[in-house]
Amino acid sequence: MTTVLVVEDDPRIASFLVRGLEAEGYETEVAGDGMVAASLLVSGSSRFAVVLLDLGLPGASGEEVLELLRKRDTSVPVIVLTARDAVTDKVHGLDLGANDYVTKPFSFAELLARMRAAIRSTGPVVSTELVVDELRLDLLAKVVWRAGRRIELSQREFALLELLMRNPGRVLPRTRILAEVWQYDFTTESNVVDVYVGYLRRKLDRSGSVPVIETVRGAGYRLVTA
Ligand code: CA
Repeated sequence: MTTVLVVEDDPRIASFLVRGLEAEGYETEVAGDGMVAASLLVSGSSRFAVVLLDLGLPGASGEEVLELLRKRDTSVPVIVLTARDAVTDKVHGLDLGANDYVTKPFSFAELLARMRAAIRSTGPVVSTELVVDELRLDLLAKVVWRAGRRIELSQREFALLELLMRNPGRVLPRTRILAEVWQYDFTTESNVVDVYVGYLRRKLDRSGSVPVIETVRGAGYRLVTA
């Protein structure tokens, strides 16, 4: 579901936006006050696909909201809703990190087109975590947790586990693991994969826990899934 944050203190404009957006299949949240908008954005801007931001607001101005947001999150697109002839507002808004602006009164079709363009320009949200059952891999911090226990891995161990977790339950032949984790093809037999699978097992498994990696005889390895 695509959620739009509507920051607008004029109740008629806010309800016009909400009705129109919901008819188009968007979810909406409304903040009629700059402070409320700021706290919503500080507590979780990433859940909004786009922010529609009025500038003249009680509590805190739209410029202040935008400035605060951009210190923390540069990715969520913001479209400033501004009065017809407030050209300096526009320039200032773009300086502060707005992606676009729409002048009031605006046509709803134009607003939708601008929103779609703004959402597109930020691209799909790329997840920085892989989760399979008890395992959670943080691709940015290069750390893994099993059932909440933090486990440090070397670069190769991490790459090997990432490959297995991207293919849960699927048997990966040693040749493919070698090609993807070590980036070259072994034409001769090498036990480097087996050695690293051993390292991972020692770090990930505890006595009594279900083994994470299964050896499939003559075929390769696979990540065990529930
Ligand atoms: Ca206003």
